[in-house]
Amino acid sequence: MKKIISIFITFFIVIGIVIFLALNISNKKEIKNDGNNKIKAIATLFPQYDFLKQIGKDKIEVTLLLPPGTETHTYDPSPKDIIGINQSMLFVYTGRYMEPWAEKIINSIDRDVLILDVSKGIEHIADHTHEGHEEVEYDPHIWLDISNAKVMVDNILDSLIKLDSENTDYYIKNAEEYKEKLEELDNSFIQVINNSKRNTICFGDKFAYMYFITKYNLDYITAYDSCSSSAEPSVSKILEVEERIKEENIPVIFYESLSEGKVAKSIAKDLGIEALVFSSVHTVSSEDIKNGATYISVMEKNLEALQKALN
Ligand SMILES: [Zn+2]
Repeated sequence: MKKIISIFITFFIVIGIVIFLALNISNKKEIKNDGNNKIKAIATLFPQYDFLKQIGKDKIEVTLLLPPGTETHTYDPSPKDIIGINQSMLFVYTGRYMEPWAEKIINSIDRDVLILDVSKGIEHIADHTHEGHEEVEYDPHIWLDISNAKVMVDNILDSLIKLDSENTDYYIKNAEEYKEKLEELDNSFIQVINNSKRNTICFGDKFAYMYFITKYNLDYITAYDSCSSSAEPSVSKILEVEERIKEENIPVIFYESLSEGKVAKSIAKDLGIEALVFSSVHTVSSEDIKNGATYISVMEKNLEALQKALN
């Protein structure tokens, strides 16, 4: 009797394992084959969304997780987001400083999804408010340094090759060509900055530009302390900013794209200077996406604004 029971138990365990394996295999099949052979990728923010498209081209289908104009630092992923990511092959986020909320997504992934922290290998710099603080907070806006953008491209390249090694040469070629374009963009910034009258720029909106400023050795004035906080600058802060603009004879104050730029515009009006958009490239508008905006096209607009501001 004992023997028969143990044979039965063994039999059911084996059947259980077989069913479990069969289900798992069919799940994976579903992920890899959904009618086309493209890599299905989901990117949190615009820079990696664009880089994925530039390198994967027609072999990739990329979804931008955050709808254009969404607040990026404090986003709360929906169950629908999590389901979508579970059904994709590749999830790319900027890193834990930029998207602390991505942890919730990563912990909910229970299928065969490749997860890429695209800041891998990039050294984070301290944010604007670090002076006088014991605990350093890191600036998460790594993509605003074009050298970092190249590292992000390489990280994405590695992931695409992992998922689709048959097309390794194709991805390498696209990445190399794209990095050359980034190099040209970088050189254009260097040229404009080297040939300009001044070295100080002024921001009158949420502040995300430490990487940019550090890369090009610029000086800066900012009305806002950070990008993630919604705190408006105090009256005394605004007066201090206005004082410095007058002292240094600065002709332009920047504000963020997709922002009304109220503070920047009011300072510009007070002082008779110009308020211009300088995008931090977290997101772009739906219209810009429709019109084919890219990281490079947005940065080229920034370059035009910078040229005015430095001269
Ligand atoms: Zn930000």
